[in-house]
Amino acid sequence: MNSELTRLSAAEQAAKLAAGEFSSRELTQAHLERIDALEPAVGAYLNVDHDGALAAADAVDTARKEGAALPELAGVPVAVKDLCCTRGQVTTAASKILEGWVPPYDATLVANIRANQMPILGKTNLDEFAMGGSTEHSAFHRTANPWDLERIPGGSSGGSAAALAAYEAPLAVGTDTGGSIRQPAAVTGTVGVKPTYGTVSRFGVIAMASSLDTPGPMARNVLDTALLHDVMASYDPLDSTSLSDAPRGMADVVRAAQAGMDLKALRVGVISQLDGGEGYQEGVVESFHQALTLLENAGATIKTVDLPHLEYALDAYYLIMPAEVSSNLARYDGMRYGLRVEPKEGPVTAERVMAATRGAGFGDEVKRRIILGTHVLSAGYYDAYYGSALKVRTLVQRDFDAAFADVDILVSPTSPITAYRFGEKDDPLTMYKLDVTTIPANLAGIPGMSLPSGLSEGLPVGFQILAPQRKDDRLYRVGAVLEALVNERVGGALLERAPQL
Ligand code: GLN
Repeated sequence: MNSELTRLSAAEQAAKLAAGEFSSRELTQAHLERIDALEPAVGAYLNVDHDGALAAADAVDTARKEGAALPELAGVPVAVKDLCCTRGQVTTAASKILEGWVPPYDATLVANIRANQMPILGKTNLDEFAMGGSTEHSAFHRTANPWDLERIPGGSSGGSAAALAAYEAPLAVGTDTGGSIRQPAAVTGTVGVKPTYGTVSRFGVIAMASSLDTPGPMARNVLDTALLHDVMASYDPLDSTSLSDAPRGMADVVRAAQAGMDLKALRVGVISQLDGGEGYQEGVVESFHQALTLLENAGATIKTVDLPHLEYALDAYYLIMPAEVSSNLARYDGMRYGLRVEPKEGPVTAERVMAATRGAGFGDEVKRRIILGTHVLSAGYYDAYYGSALKVRTLVQRDFDAAFADVDILVSPTSPITAYRFGEKDDPLTMYKLDVTTIPANLAGIPGMSLPSGLSEGLPVGFQILAPQRKDDRLYRVGAVLEALVNERVGGALLERAPQL
C-alpha cells in the first residue's frame, strides 16, 4: 500500500487526502520510507527532515479532522532545492562555505509552501551555488539519474529532478538562472517550468545571478507543475524585482493545465537556431520533430522562425552571469556568517581571513566564475565585455518580441543531448555549450517549460516551450495537450518506462 502512495500524482494525492482515503502522515511517511530506501543509490537530498515533515503532516491531519477549510495541496509533501532558505533547517547551496548554516528566516516561496500546509521532506542537491548543469559540482556528493545510475540527473536542480523521477517526492522546487529547472527535467523525463522573471520571489533564495535567477516548480506531469507554480508565485515587497501585477495572471496556470486548448488556434514557431545541427544528438532532434508532428496533426500551424541574435546569447550569458556572481558571492567573507578560516600562519587581517575562507570554502567552478566576473567588470574591460553583453541581451529580447508578433509559442529541444555519464563533460566550455537552448529565455525574462517528448537510446528527451512574458498560462495550455499526445504515442507516462529502483 505505502509504496503505491508515492506513485500517485500530486493532484491525486490531494484529492485522496481530501476524501479521507489516507492521512498526510501516511503519505509523508511513505515518501520518507522511499527516501530512506533509495537515497544510498540516488543521493537526491542533502538533508531529510523526518521530524519536521511528519510534524507538518500531523498538523494538517488534525486541522482536517476538525473540519478546517484547507488549501488544495495541504498535506501533500514537497522537496525544496537547497538554495532556498528554510528557517531552522540547514541550507548550504551545496557549498562548503555554508556547511551547517541554519537560516533565521524562510524564503518567501518556502513561506508560501508552509502557508499551504505542505510538509517539506528535505533539501535537494545541486551544483554549488547553482553553477553547473550536472549536479557533479555539489561540494557534498553527486546525485544519480534514476534512469541510469551512472549518468547525471542534469543540473543545477538535479536533486529535485532525481527525487521526482525516483518517486521520492511528488513535487519539487527548482531554480533556473540559465536552464537549471528545464534541463534536469528534460534528462529525467519530468516536467519543469521557469516562470516569468519576477513572478516567483527571489527573497531568501541564495543569489547566483540576480537579473536571471528564477525559482520555479518541478513535477512528474503538467498539472502537478501548475499546482506547485500557483503556490510558489506571489507578489513580494521583499524582492525589488517582484512584479506587483503578477498574481492575477498566475492563478490561471492551474486552470490552463486543466483546460488545455484546441490546437487549431495555435501558431507554433520552431526556433531555427536551435533546431539541430552541430552538437545535437540525432535521437533528440528526431524526438523533437515527432512531437512537432503530433502538434501539427492536432491542427497547430507550424512555422520556422529566425532569432538571429541567439547566436550570441550563450556568450552574453557567460559574461553577465559571472559578473553578477562575482558581486553576489562577495558576501562570503568569513566575517558575517558561514565558514571562517584563519590563515595558518602570519597576521590575521581581514583580507587574509577572506582569502583563506574563500580558498577553502568555494569549489573550482565557483572560483572560476568569480575570477571571470571580476575580470569582465574591471576597469578597461567593462565596456568591451559586460557592456557588449548587455547590448546583446537587449537584441535577444527584441528578437523574441518580433517572433512573438507572429507566433503564440516558440519551441526547441530543451537540451541538445540526453543524460551523459558522470565525468564525460568535465571540461567547463563543453559543459557551458550545452546551455545554448535554455539560456535565451533567461536573458529575455520569458517563461519556459520542459516536458518529455519521448526517448532517445532509452533515455528521456525534453521538449521546450517558450511564451511571452506573463503568458505562463500558455505553457500549461499547450503542455497539457502535448503531454496527452505524447503519452498516447508511447502508451502511458514516459516515466513509467524508467527502470524500477
Ligand atoms: N547550467 C547553467 C550554468 O551553469 C545554468 C545554471 C542555472 O540555471 N542555475 O550557469
